Amino acid sequence: MVKKEGDMLGCSNADATIIRLRRFVITISVLWTGAICVSLVANAYREYKDARKAAKIENRSTFNKDLAYRRWAAERGGVYVPATDKTPPNPHLSHVPERDITTPSGRQLTLVNPAYMTRQVHEIGAGHYHVQGHITSLNPIRPENAPDKWETAALEAIARGEVREVSMIAAMNGEAYMRLMQPLLVEKGCLKCHAAQGYKVGDIRGGISMSTPMKPHLAIARSSVMTLAVIHSAFWLAGLGGISFGGWKFKGQLIKCQKAEEERERLLKILAYKNEELESIMYVSAHDFRTPIINIMGYSSELTEDCKRLKAMLKELKISAETEPSFFRILDDNIPMSLKYISSSAVKVGILQKGLLAVCRVGREELNVETVDMNGLIAEIIINMQYQIKESKAAVNVSYLPPCQGDKEKLSQVFTNLLDNAIKYLDPNKAVQINVSGKADKETCVYCVEDNGIGIDPRYHDKIFEIFHQLDPAGAVEGQGLGLTIVRRIIQRQGGRVSVKSEVGKGSKFFIELPSFSRRGGP
Ligand code: ADP
Repeated sequence: MVKKEGDMLGCSNADATIIRLRRFVITISVLWTGAICVSLVANAYREYKDARKAAKIENRSTFNKDLAYRRWAAERGGVYVPATDKTPPNPHLSHVPERDITTPSGRQLTLVNPAYMTRQVHEIGAGHYHVQGHITSLNPIRPENAPDKWETAALEAIARGEVREVSMIAAMNGEAYMRLMQPLLVEKGCLKCHAAQGYKVGDIRGGISMSTPMKPHLAIARSSVMTLAVIHSAFWLAGLGGISFGGWKFKGQLIKCQKAEEERERLLKILAYKNEELESIMYVSAHDFRTPIINIMGYSSELTEDCKRLKAMLKELKISAETEPSFFRILDDNIPMSLKYISSSAVKVGILQKGLLAVCRVGREELNVETVDMNGLIAEIIINMQYQIKESKAAVNVSYLPPCQGDKEKLSQVFTNLLDNAIKYLDPNKAVQINVSGKADKETCVYCVEDNGIGIDPRYHDKIFEIFHQLDPAGAVEGQGLGLTIVRRIIQRQGGRVSVKSEVGKGSKFFIELPSFSRRGGP
């Protein structure tokens, strides 16, 4: 009923809890490690994805710039540049009239068409930039512009209309490159040179491929991933440290609890043993006192009789007139007075011995725990107490009482004692009103015996349950100070609890808490 301190701390089964804690710490550590790994992998993936994205952007912006220059040249029908070794007349433009012209000053100029210009720009770029451009076609005028294997596949896919452009990582000269193939559509300006090949405006003339080496981008990504790995490792270690520290702290608490629990168990065992020992001493003493008390009382009355006989014998004897008064004073006053004290003390000791024996018996008798119909039990008690109830003109009101688990006979004694006290300690200025009520939940039943009697000062709420304790021993009410002691012993033995709420002049409420009917196994 009353929660153990260890239970309240949650450490009644500390060994099992330590094992559970260990498992919990391991699980949390594994989850933490998993979370860190997932985060690292996700971040690394994002870094590499960003590297690919950056390479793609680089390809596309270089391509767009090339396209702009190329369009500029195409729109102007090509440009004339001085014919040199680096820019000789383009043999593939031999059919174009005025391919080569001479300025009035005699300088030789040759026509450079967009493809020628783009190729030359790409050749310059190949030496300076890491993005490599290549103007190509499945049907090149110049054999040098022929596509490589990847470019062929990309141009064919574009020609089949499967894609509008191709962009992917592919190997080139044994290294990874981000490659882009964008189609070159025939524009009006292109026909000047390519009309002879049968192209119309809008046809796919070929394509420009851009290839950005992945190496520098991957190097940046790798370095970021390394930084991320270091940060993640630091977080991982800090997390593991925190988890271990928390676990270690909690384990320390548990071990402390376990020790406290063991100590409590040990002390409880000692207490139970001492209690048992004390109880048997009490029982044996109370039991063995009986014979000497009977002897004292018996011999006292025998002595009284002997005194009377002695007095009669003395009267017949001739005793001198001086000594006679002192003889009779002893026989009439002194001895009977002493004998009176001896027998009244023996009666008191006898009462105490009986009370002690009764209390001891409550602790020793076997309990017969069953489900008790409390409504029936209280009804029986009220019938048995009819005389006292009528005498005191008490109104006893009983509400519905839930059943409980307990020893019926002993519970009858408990409620008889409580009702008896409610009548005994009545307030002479009030009509006696006694209420018996009860309520139950899954675990416990609580019954209340309430009266409107003289009440009890809260300072004595504990004292009244002590053996032979009476608040007003010289008062008009007869009692031995045993009733509530017996109530408490019976209820405690049945796994219950008894308590009181009362104030002087305001009546009293005695609460009895017992295992409820629904609680399995009982006390
Ligand atoms: P007793 O035999 O004296 O009644 P109990 O153990 O039953 O012994 O009660 C102990 C003391 O508690 C009583 O002497 C009385 O002063 C007080 N007491 C018990 N019940 C009541 C009550 N219902 N109202 C007022 N006082 C009570």
